[in-house]
Amino acid sequence: MRIAVIGNGIVGTATAAWLQREGHYVTFIDPLGPAEATSFGNAGSLSPSACLPVGMPGMWKKVPTWLLDPLGPLTVRWWYAPVVAPWLMRFLRHSTRDEVIRIATALRNLLGPIFDCYEPLLQRAGAMGLMTRSGCLYVYSGQDAAKQWSWGMNLRRSLGVDLRDVSEDELVTLEPDLKGRFRFGILAPENGSTVDPAAFTRALYAQCERDGAQAVRRRATGFQTAGGLVTGVTLEDGETLDCEGVVLAGGAWSAQLASHLGARIPLETQRGYHVTVESSNLSLRHTVMAVEHNIMANPMQMGLRIAGSVEFAGLNAEPDYRRADVLLTRAQDMFPHLDTSRTTKWMGHRPCLPDSLPVIGRAPGVDNAWFAFGHGHVGMCGAATTGREIAALVAGRRPEVDLTAFSPRRFGR
Ligand SMILES: Cc1cc2nc3c(=O)[nH]c(=O)nc-3n(C[C@H](O)[C@H](O)[C@H](O)COP(=O)(O)OP(=O)(O)OC[C@H]3O[C@@H](n4cnc5c(N)ncnc54)[C@H](O)[C@@H]3O)c2cc1C
Repeated sequence: MRIAVIGNGIVGTATAAWLQREGHYVTFIDPLGPAEATSFGNAGSLSPSACLPVGMPGMWKKVPTWLLDPLGPLTVRWWYAPVVAPWLMRFLRHSTRDEVIRIATALRNLLGPIFDCYEPLLQRAGAMGLMTRSGCLYVYSGQDAAKQWSWGMNLRRSLGVDLRDVSEDELVTLEPDLKGRFRFGILAPENGSTVDPAAFTRALYAQCERDGAQAVRRRATGFQTAGGLVTGVTLEDGETLDCEGVVLAGGAWSAQLASHLGARIPLETQRGYHVTVESSNLSLRHTVMAVEHNIMANPMQMGLRIAGSVEFAGLNAEPDYRRADVLLTRAQDMFPHLDTSRTTKWMGHRPCLPDSLPVIGRAPGVDNAWFAFGHGHVGMCGAATTGREIAALVAGRRPEVDLTAFSPRRFGR
């Protein structure tokens, strides 16, 4: 089948690669090159353990503080508050214990096969070296602090995530750079990471091209349909690209195109920031999640990447790089000896649904259009499984992961 894949971030690229394995002909449609949007600068964590939603029980109590602290870990720019308020209400409704258990179960199913789904793609692309399996360390100032997050950790454990308590002495042996600041840790040995998310995505994309994928460097603006099927994708210059099927993987920008297919998807962007410390003198071996600092530190090819922060301000507002500066300050607090003489900063748009679950499945009422977007904080983690399952749906096979919780129909038409 000739399939148009809209979006060449990690989700579109991994999906295209899986479609090609089934013999389909892929054309990417994207005004940008591969991994120039959100898939460029993320924290690169590939974590089967990352199954907890963003909205956790009791979070509603923090809403007033979010609104008041413009540089806090989770903030809403005041002028955007009326726009995002209905979305935030839905988001909070999904943060009850029962909902969190349901969401975490679904995400665990999606993220469990990360490595099984990436490995064949990376091997074919000759890019296995871009992925590591060195584990993730959740670190805390002490065991008492860790207790505050124990409900979520126990939920992970109940879903089969391997998590091991790490004493202060073991922590220093595992990561000497953490000495002094952290007295307790939890090791997720199954977790992996990429040493460069952009290079990772581009390596898979380059293999798609070697396997015959074409690229149209233009924005998609709508669809041509006949008899309830998509027959083409309309482009910004008015031209149409004929196709026999389409996958919408446009990240945070997908909702408008989805609406052209009759689907109302409440997609919001949670803007996130990174600082990459190119001059890093640390020798971290794990991805480190400093839970109280709310940041992730990941050693990468180009330096130490510190990422985090959630900002609601829509798709068009300028980045507020003071938020990246806050990440750097927190990193300096974690690692007082870190050489921060050379840094770069970046902001990206996480594509988020109020239930923290992506949309994976056939577009409601259109037999040859599939949605693959909304992966929020776990797009690197979830892209390859998404691709495998979309390829199964296209082939009319039953997917290996139960996709009910990810259905595009869950928001109505
Ligand atoms: C600070 C930060 C840290 C993160 N850390 C992690 C992490 O450690 N692990 C993890 O798993 N995830 C992480 N994420 C999330 C992850 O980066 C995203 O979920 C993922 O990159 C989304 O990929 P995507 O392919 O859906 O979107 P994108 O990479 O944004 O790609 C979407 C593409 O669609 C194109 N597009 C949009 N509209 C159109 C249109 N109309 N026509 C044609 N093309 C269009 C865009 O140009 C773009 O190229 C992080 C995100 C941030 C911001």
